[in-house]
Amino acid sequence: MLTKCSTFNENLIFKTRSYTVPMIFVRIRKGYNLKIEGKPSLETDTIAPPSHVAVLPERIPFIKPRLQVEIGDHVNVGSLLFEDKRNSDLKFLAPGGGEVVQINFGPRRIIQEIVIRLDTDEKYEKFEAFDENKLEKTDRKQLIKLIMAGGLWPLIRELPFRDIAGPDDRPPVIFVNLDDQEPFQPLAEVYLKGKRDLFDYGIKVLHKLGNGNVYISACRDHSGVIKELNGRVTHTYSGNYPADDPGVLLYYTKRSSDDNRSWYINGQDVLLLAHLLKTGTYPTERTVVLAGSFARERLHIRTRMGVPLAHMAQGRADKAQTRYLVGGIFRGYSGSERSYLGFYETSLTLMPEGEEREVLAFIRPGFNKPSYSKTFLSFFTKTDLRLDCNLHGGERACIGCGYCVDVCPVDILPQLTFKSIFAQEIDESLAHGLLDCVECGLCSYVCPSKIELAATLKEAKAEYYKQIS
Ligand code: SF4
Ligand code: SF4
Repeated sequence: MLTKCSTFNENLIFKTRSYTVPMIFVRIRKGYNLKIEGKPSLETDTIAPPSHVAVLPERIPFIKPRLQVEIGDHVNVGSLLFEDKRNSDLKFLAPGGGEVVQINFGPRRIIQEIVIRLDTDEKYEKFEAFDENKLEKTDRKQLIKLIMAGGLWPLIRELPFRDIAGPDDRPPVIFVNLDDQEPFQPLAEVYLKGKRDLFDYGIKVLHKLGNGNVYISACRDHSGVIKELNGRVTHTYSGNYPADDPGVLLYYTKRSSDDNRSWYINGQDVLLLAHLLKTGTYPTERTVVLAGSFARERLHIRTRMGVPLAHMAQGRADKAQTRYLVGGIFRGYSGSERSYLGFYETSLTLMPEGEEREVLAFIRPGFNKPSYSKTFLSFFTKTDLRLDCNLHGGERACIGCGYCVDVCPVDILPQLTFKSIFAQEIDESLAHGLLDCVECGLCSYVCPSKIELAATLKEAKAEYYKQIS
């Protein structure tokens, strides 16, 4: 039964009495769900171990990597590969044991990939392990030191800039998002299967790191996960993408501006943290998703951190003109088939490039084109449609349609914020709510004028962060 909760916005938040821990229900009013084909099934496959794994320093935001290995070095699982020049306690470790065979650099000597050829008999670095009783007695500083030494501190990130959390800060809240509505990501009901105890252990760790406010959120429709976690879930929500985003939940549950510097971590990453502290070894397993209309099989895959993309797609993608999208359609990036899954990424989406010309496109009513605009008849179609990577046109002037405002989950006026950034009016863009932007990418997707709103706001946020830190 749902009853109003007086502590929050009356129209939006309700409290339920059905579970041990009182749950808050948050209704997210805006956002958008793409009706596209290529959804993964709940089926999970364990694939053969890859021959190589890699770490991608380039894909870890804000860090300045300092290499600690050379080509030809031999590393164990958990050996140091590089550290952050800003804070040398931030360490990034090897997700596999073997020989460092490639270190690839990009423009301006940016380290793109550190590739390890795996030994058949991999060795592991040993870190201190804790059983639950020992965990109770360990103090916070000691715990932070161990997570940092074990290379998993970067899994915990801080709002609103999404940099790695500052170990000396005390977060007002730690958000644990079980789902990720970005199409298509691993589902909690798959990656949590048989790991409930490990998850509980991880949540205890987070309680020690924070001020006791650990918000565990799940979509209200995922009743299986909510029941499985039996009272652990503190917040449920309903709404379109990106309703699950910690920044969106923060926007709806914020008690004061102090909450703006909350931390967050993904549910699957809680398992990695727990694995490290419980076993004293660096975790290598990841549940990832292979999806998209050009994936012949769309499913969850149990594999390793840093797996090659080609290894994931092997035998499951056979079309030319396929785009490899790593980490999601809205927030991910185009990867090469020869690349690897990064530290934060858990999905590979195979999509058509969409470069072929349409015959008689001008007389087609657009039944088959996914679009936010009602100009295309696909707006009225209920079935999932094929999305391709073609922009179908170039950038034009803003026509004031307001679509970007309609979808923005945190009530920013993206077009006005964009204009103030363009005019270098940083104070004005902050007043428009720039820091609330959760970098979901929806405004760019729905914009009929193809204006790069989301990328511009994200860059402006990052630039502002560099200036103030
Ligand atoms: S302004 Fe930011 S939060 Fe709003 S839709 Fe665009 S990317 Fe998403
Ligand atoms: S969606 Fe694009 S064209 Fe429409 S108001 Fe926003 S910026 Fe302007």
